[in-house]
Amino acid sequence: MKLLDIKGIGKKKEEVLNSMDIYSVDDLINYFPRAYEDRSRFVDIDQALDGLNQSFILTIKTRARTYYHKKGSITNLKAYDQSKEINLVWYNNRFAANNLRLGQEYKFFGKYDKEKNRLINPVFTTLDKDDIGGIYPIYSIKKGISNKDMIKFLSYALDNYSYGSDFIDGASRKKFKLLSDKQIIYSLHKPIDYMDLYRAKRSYSMGQMVLRNVFFHKLKEKRYAEKAIVFKNFNLEDQVYNLLDFKLTKGQLSSLEEIKNDMYSKLRMNRILIGDVGSGKTVVGILAAIIAIKSDYQVAFMAPTEILAIQHFNNYRDLLAKLDIDSELLTGSISLKEKKRIYGKLEEGRTKLIFGTHALFQEEVTFNKLGLVITDEQQRFGVEQRKRLEDKGEKPDILILTATPIPRTLALTIYGDLDVSVIDSLPENRKKIDSFLVDTGYERRFMDFARKEIDKGRQVYVIASRIEEDDDLASVFGLLDKYRAYYGPEVKIDFIHGKMDSDEKERKQELFIGGKIDILIATTIIEVGIDNKNASLMIIYDANQFGMTQLHQLRGRVGRGEYKSYCILVKPKGLKDDDKLKFLEKSDDGFEIAQKDMELRGAGNILGLEQSGYEDNLFNDLYINDIIFKETQEMTEYIIEERLYESDEFSEKLKKYEIENNKIVLN
Ligand code: ADP
Ligand code: MG
Repeated sequence: MKLLDIKGIGKKKEEVLNSMDIYSVDDLINYFPRAYEDRSRFVDIDQALDGLNQSFILTIKTRARTYYHKKGSITNLKAYDQSKEINLVWYNNRFAANNLRLGQEYKFFGKYDKEKNRLINPVFTTLDKDDIGGIYPIYSIKKGISNKDMIKFLSYALDNYSYGSDFIDGASRKKFKLLSDKQIIYSLHKPIDYMDLYRAKRSYSMGQMVLRNVFFHKLKEKRYAEKAIVFKNFNLEDQVYNLLDFKLTKGQLSSLEEIKNDMYSKLRMNRILIGDVGSGKTVVGILAAIIAIKSDYQVAFMAPTEILAIQHFNNYRDLLAKLDIDSELLTGSISLKEKKRIYGKLEEGRTKLIFGTHALFQEEVTFNKLGLVITDEQQRFGVEQRKRLEDKGEKPDILILTATPIPRTLALTIYGDLDVSVIDSLPENRKKIDSFLVDTGYERRFMDFARKEIDKGRQVYVIASRIEEDDDLASVFGLLDKYRAYYGPEVKIDFIHGKMDSDEKERKQELFIGGKIDILIATTIIEVGIDNKNASLMIIYDANQFGMTQLHQLRGRVGRGEYKSYCILVKPKGLKDDDKLKFLEKSDDGFEIAQKDMELRGAGNILGLEQSGYEDNLFNDLYINDIIFKETQEMTEYIIEERLYESDEFSEKLKKYEIENNKIVLN
């Protein structure tokens, strides 16, 4: 069956469908509604709830009349049911009521306005049609195709499509309570009720996730079969631990054990280390680097920003020097001469540990013997970019550090073929950061509080969501003026933002860390940046504009030393209560915040599972995500253990999936 075989689709409509990325009947039936409208319950007018869309069966009492005024037209008529009479009103749609016959009964669906006892812009249909009375799908459409067209086309397509066999076998589907592919497709387009829809979404998303998990499982198997570097055992305990000025936490030690296991075996490490901001991932990375270097390999340590690269380099230079390890820093902004010097040392193998940014990807960078690549904050680098660096060695081990905690149940699905280590506790000397959610009406109060912290010798961050807009008081420059005017010259206020050149950024950062700046007004470029143990207060303007995990990361810039620290989340006056900010006020546990973020935003967004073209996505209202993820995990294990993915149907589906997802193949 081709699109043109479907009743109602001619050349013109086919073109529009093509522009919606629908080229075949297969595409069409996989084009799911972006939303659903509950039109299932009919109510009597006297039982209708104010302000809600509801369904009615009404008899037409008067002829429609249209009134014209400057801005447009109003069409209205009266109708009734057994309980009372009601007004029906349409704005700027003078033909709306053309098909309604006096004295006849119709189904209506529209928003009830109690004050004026009316329905505004209701849709309607004759009693024999089922557009009203059930769950109504709403599709993303383009000009030339109406929602009704879509329903019509799909109705035909669904009934005449030849459904292949399910990729998940019948017994597994029964075990995990999944609908068949055919049922899923039907129910997503024409759900009988919300439970039916829910079951279809559950089945669909579980199937998709299992597919993804199996895909990654196979990648992992391939990697496990590969031979890679076997690093020599190096006694960190005796030779390095005493050089650190703290004791490693339990989480750091257990992660390190997992890393060592990978490094000392012929298995190629491809591991992600997840830990909250300040949990001490960097030092774990450095320790792994030391192991590699003591086996005579080189290590590349990639930071997402120049600020961070510099910081890591400065923080660990001395420690490394004590171990006779030559380290260098390579960023985009150093001079060509300096770069050439470093390239030379790398090529000869004299430099063992290179810290850097994107500059490390450059073609000119060649290693003598690259054995380990560490990337900090992976989400900032593209897979391609990372691969470019990894290709500079011969199957180097890979360690990724990320401060974006995710719910554990999601780790397998998100990180795919990576092995996962978690640091789930902060060093003991860390104190809870107290957070407060206020509106701009409290500005004087928190500005005075900032002054008190500064008088105690502490330092303050003020975060703005933008650099400058005209007369914008909450931009970096708007706040700079405001703060300078408020405190006068006694308080040293400066700023930093992403559009500055790197020298300038570095200078500002040094000034702040050196205590020469009391208040640093910044954009989010400091999010993964500065480590200033003396900073005790962060004020975030327009906090509502940031994501939860981003706010949590930002907040992690304070409370890094011994001082009690605070975060003021500022929202604009009059903004309604914001669940996300309220939760952040209460919790400063990154994993807990990630879990909440998933609940609020929907797992689909976090997983990036949403299909392009759909405004909404299927996974968003799976409010019991966590349960579904656990079930998916069980199902994945079952399917892998029983090798059910080797069936023809599953293999074929997997092959398609591999082609579509080639981008995300890491190795
Ligand atoms: P992350 O990269 O996870 O945000 P870092 O590795 O930058 O964290 O560590 C944050 C700060 O905590 C650094 O100043 C580091 O020296 C310090 N630190 C790391 N581990 C410990 C520990 N076990 N005890 C005390 N301080 C630690
Ligand atoms: Mg770090």
